[in-house]
Order: sequence, then C-alpha cells, then structure tokens
Amino acid sequence: MTRIAVGGFLHETNTFAPTKATYDDFVHGGGWPSMTRGAEVLKVMRKINAGLAGFVEAAEAYGWELAPTIATGATPSAHVTKDAFERIVKDMVDGIVAAGPIDAVYLDLHGAMVTEHHDDGEGEILARVRKAIGKDIPLVASLDLHANVSAEMIEHADALIAYRTYPHVDMADTGRACARHLALLLNSRQPLAKAFRQLPFLIAISWQCTNDQPAKGIYQKLAALESDAVPTLSFAFGFPAADIKDCGPSVFAYGRTQADADAAADSMVALVESHENDFDGPIYMPDEGVLLAMKLAASASKPIVIADTQDNPGAAAIPTPRACCARWCATEQVRPPASSATRNRRALRTRPASVRQSRSTSAASPVFRAMRLTGKPSSSRSSPTAGSSRRGHFTADATWTWDPPPACGSAMFASSSAPTRRSSQTRRCTAMSASSRPHRRSWSTRVRCTSAPISSRSPRNC
Ligand SMILES: [Zn+2]
Repeated sequence: MTRIAVGGFLHETNTFAPTKATYDDFVHGGGWPSMTRGAEVLKVMRKINAGLAGFVEAAEAYGWELAPTIATGATPSAHVTKDAFERIVKDMVDGIVAAGPIDAVYLDLHGAMVTEHHDDGEGEILARVRKAIGKDIPLVASLDLHANVSAEMIEHADALIAYRTYPHVDMADTGRACARHLALLLNSRQPLAKAFRQLPFLIAISWQCTNDQPAKGIYQKLAALESDAVPTLSFAFGFPAADIKDCGPSVFAYGRTQADADAAADSMVALVESHENDFDGPIYMPDEGVLLAMKLAASASKPIVIADTQDNPGAAAIPTPRACCARWCATEQVRPPASSATRNRRALRTRPASVRQSRSTSAASPVFRAMRLTGKPSSSRSSPTAGSSRRGHFTADATWTWDPPPACGSAMFASSSAPTRRSSQTRRCTAMSASSRPHRRSWSTRVRCTSAPISSRSPRNC
C-alpha cells in the first residue's frame, strides 16, 4: 500500500508587525485548529477548508495509507520565534523519519513564513525534510496565494501548488490538487521539469481579490494553460508586508519537458505584467478613508462601512479600525472608546472565548456601547453572537463560528464599531474586520459589498 507522510506548519509573517508568533501561539492556533500530532491530525483535518484536510480526503479515496506528523498554524503576526520554528520542524522531521518506509511526503505550508533566524521559513522546512527523506521520494506542498516563493522552495520540493482564490475558498481544493499531482508522480515515477519566475513588482493585497479583474481573468487563464504537458501551473501574488529578498509575486510551472514548463511560466508572467498598471489602484490611509466615508454618509440612505480589506486586519499589524475610529471621533468631536481595539485583540489572543466588560459613557455623551459577548468559538453559528444593539447597530466585538467558505466551521472575530447619536440625527461609522486567522475576508467583503459604496472604485472594491 502506498504510504504518505503528511504534516502542516502555516504562518503568514508581517515583518513590520509588532508581535511575534511563539510556540504557544501555534499550540492554541488562533483561528486555526489547535496543534495536533500523530493520529489526532487525521481526526481534526476533516471537512474543513484546509489544504491538509483536502489532501487527507483525496488520499483516502486513492487508498493511500497516511502517516501524520504534526499540524499547526498561528494567526499572522511578526516573525516566528526561533524556539517555535525549531520545535515544530523537529517534530515534523522526526515524525517523517519515524513513519518508516514511505512513498512520498505532502506538507500543508503557507509560503510567507519569516522566522527570527530564517527569512525563508518554508525554504528551510523543505530543505530539512528533503535532507531527511533523500532525493528520490516525492515531496509535494500546497501554498497560500500569498506565498513569497523562493528558489530554495522550488529546489527542494517536487511540486508546489498555490491557492487560486482570494478570499481563499479553495484551500481544501488545493490539497486535493496536490494529491492528484502526487498520484501522477507516483504512477509515472518520473519527476517533472520545473520553471520558476519572480515578478519585478509588488501587488497591494487590496488589489488581489480574485472575484474581480484583473485577478479573476488571470486565474482563468492560468487554468486554461494547464494541460497534459503542463499538469500544474501556479501564480502566487505574494505577501508584500515582508521585508525579505524573495517578497513578491511568482509563477511556478511543472511540465513534461523543460520547454513545456518554461513556455507556460513565461505566458503567465507576460499576462501578469500586462496588468501591472491595473493593480495600481487607490489605497486609503485611515484618515482618508474616514473623511471619505463621512462625506458619503452625508447623503447616503444606508450605513457606511469602513472595512479593512487586508487578508487579515492590518495584515497582522495594529488594527486599522482603531485608527479609523480615532480619526472619526476627532472629526466629530466625540469621545472614543479608549484603546478598545487593542485591548480586545489582546483579549482574543489570550482568551478566544473571552467575555469582556460592558462599558458605556454617560447619558449626556454620544453613546459608545460594548455589549457582553456570549458566543464561543466552538459554538455552531453562522452569524455574530453579539453586537446588535437595540438600535440595530453592530456595536461590540463579536466572536462566532463561520460556517461557509472560506472559514468552514472556524472561529471568527469582528472588532468593535462606533455608533453614536447626535441630537435627532443618528450617524454610524462602523469599522469592522475579520480576524483570528488568515483568509477570513468573506465577512468584510460581504458587509462592504452590500453596504453603501465606500469609494468610487467599486465594483472592484472588494
Ligand atoms: Zn492568504
């Protein structure tokens, strides 16, 4: 029976962010499932939108026996600590070695991990696994669409396959694609030729949404370029908030011949480069966004929502909603809810199901309410558990379970909003975000797309 060793180690690193990812962050997982080892991995990695879960499902359909090692991920942040990286990679490599005879290895990775001691986290992981298994055993890994892919990653893996959607609704599908590619390698017993290209410009995350052009068309073309001659072709946008040499978009292709792989990769590079100017859209600083929102609110019949559209709030930096709230309060000359966003994020990181204290200002002041949260990440709900005041405002941080893709049953978090009432006129300026794990844009997107437009760049504003 074909035996495949599997594991997962995911982190998206914003090297400009203030807080590092420690071993405990990986143990708890944030919005990812908590760290699991051995047989427990196969119990957790089922029916969720994760690369490893998709691979497990496909592998079982192929009749492969799986040797699970470790599966872990942490909320995006600054560098992964050396301690966390070394302990987790050791468990992964030791688990692969302890699995005994294996036919291949599949890893669920992100591709944008930076550690305290390695700028190219995944390059180091793949190098160590390759060293442990030797050059002849196929090694395949799935990557996030935001992977900052390096030559070292390409060198040590037989195939890397990236998500094709952002928001990432295809994480499990990418795991299945890895299983198909691995089946191809195991059947043919021939490695495929590789082609790797790095593009010469960065693309802001705000302009990477695959629901809109040009990204939508790029991925449609990518799928059309795959063939029997080029079974797998990927384009990764990269994660621009990483100050490393390999930061940026990349294309990687696997073909029957080097010419096949090169031709497909070059076609993709030409296509993306032809859209360079289309990616250069407006990006608003908090002050600008708030002033624009207030201008629109003057004549809008619906609430105006300021949404942080990064992959995760602030791309792991200090939450934008706080800055938006502060700017809005300054303009309106009202009292802000002191440091709520920062405090609440800290509470979320340390106590995921935390219930924080209610607070309110005096009756004479503009109203800032924060309702007690009653939801738990483990509860099964598809809408916020709290946050709707009697006026129908979304006025509190909220945790809930998000059932549809991309999160698929995982815990969600929305930071507090700031409703206020001035005399007879009610105004709302709501700063919302989806948090607690990457790839949770659906909430922000949905809110934003169904509310009054925040800028003139609609409909690509997603
Ligand atoms: Zn991503």
